[in-house]
Amino acid sequence: VWNNCLAFIQDNIQPQAFKTWFEPIKPVKLADNALSIQVPSKFFYEWLEEHYVKILKVALTRELGESAKLVYVIRMENTYGNREPFTEKIPSANRSGVDPQEMDVPIKSKNPELRNPFVIPGIRNIKIESQLNPNYNFDNFLEGDSNRLARSAGMAVANKPGGTSFNPLLVFGGVGLGKTHLAHAIGVEIKDKYPERTVLYISAEKFTQQYIESVKKNTRNDFIHFYQLIDVLIIDDVQFLSGKSGTQDVFFHIFNHLHQNGKQVVLTSDKAPVDMQDIEQRLLSRFKWGLSAELQNPDYETRISILKNKLYRDGVEMPNEIVEYVAKHIKTNIRELEGAIISLIAQSSFNKKEVTLELAQHVVEKFVKNTKREVSIDYIQKVVSDYFEMDVATLQSKTRKRHIVQARQLAMFFAKKFTKASLASIGSQIGKRDHATVLHACKTVDNLAETDKQFRKYIDDLTKKFS
Ligand code: ADP
Ligand code: MG
Repeated sequence: VWNNCLAFIQDNIQPQAFKTWFEPIKPVKLADNALSIQVPSKFFYEWLEEHYVKILKVALTRELGESAKLVYVIRMENTYGNREPFTEKIPSANRSGVDPQEMDVPIKSKNPELRNPFVIPGIRNIKIESQLNPNYNFDNFLEGDSNRLARSAGMAVANKPGGTSFNPLLVFGGVGLGKTHLAHAIGVEIKDKYPERTVLYISAEKFTQQYIESVKKNTRNDFIHFYQLIDVLIIDDVQFLSGKSGTQDVFFHIFNHLHQNGKQVVLTSDKAPVDMQDIEQRLLSRFKWGLSAELQNPDYETRISILKNKLYRDGVEMPNEIVEYVAKHIKTNIRELEGAIISLIAQSSFNKKEVTLELAQHVVEKFVKNTKREVSIDYIQKVVSDYFEMDVATLQSKTRKRHIVQARQLAMFFAKKFTKASLASIGSQIGKRDHATVLHACKTVDNLAETDKQFRKYIDDLTKKFS
């Protein structure tokens, strides 16, 4: 019966909405023309009642006739600490002689037509892929002076998600210092300790993309409610939200909901909250509610132990002299430190010979120099459209809407400035325009830069991203 209902519903609503609100439902039983379905939370039930009750009714009536009834089964938490105490609505008469955990709990439906007589405790089962990388865990996140505070705060949060004053926990620090690693480690540890909690790791960039997508598809509410179902939300690189007011706004609401319900939020950023630019004040103040812990540049000792640990785990031996050389010369980025050692391991195993100091010098030199990224026209278009919270296709489209035209002109301007491509080639790559259009764009940007303060700011912000 339920499968037929699902098929009918699927044909009639947006795929994303179907995925979010119907795939997690499990049919439980069918008796007296009443179908029981299990939903992950009370909130979920309320959402269904509010938004999908009509379609549910139609689907059910098709299957079971006019007298069809629907029963929601909600998993009740054993501990009510952080949860909404909806048990309060239970008339005490119902309690007699029944194990409280197994008890039928009447819950008043706002919908008389599908009045919901009972809510039976069931088993919570929200299917949300955590997106965690098990290779990033606490075991291989080596401790040192540079990361002790952040690491132990992370452990504390993992031991008691939502139950410490570190909410949110914000881990900040420069490139390659272990923010992403630590963020995953926290999630992995929580999943290990509390397998039933829904944990989600997501980069701020992907979060933004999903949000933009949801606005385009008219599923903004589904997006919000999906995130509100999560117990532990880990967002990596929140500095990416800077200047993106739409995404910040939606994140603000999600954050408040989670925080109020005692859910854990973990954030990483390349800057301390005080130094974050173009992030709304109200969000910054939320960030400061919990703990901000810095990942600093690793000291020499820590660099040595990270290198040795890497060699040990790969079963490779290398003269101390070499390890020390690498640790001495690569100071500010653990990713580069690892990159250099991996490169040395590779060279020694390919050439089947000892790594010499000379080779080490050569490799280290390359790593220290080659940190700058080559800027391509694709990359420029991506950065500019992200900055204006649109997608690349919109930026390239034929529309004459002012803000889109401006974004397009800026992309052309930066392509001219930061690549060696010809005007014609830039034009053809940015939405198939000719060289005259690109030339005109560059002039317009130059003019606006002088006359329009806001526009000047766009240019400055974006320039920083490319240099
Ligand atoms: P970020 O996100 O800050 O740019 P990452 O988390 O990606 O940095 O870390 C870069 C690399 O350094 C990863 O391979 C990570 O495993 C490694 N790393 C960072 N900190 C440590 C640490 N304390 N112990 C071991 N490896 C580390
Ligand atoms: Mg990272």
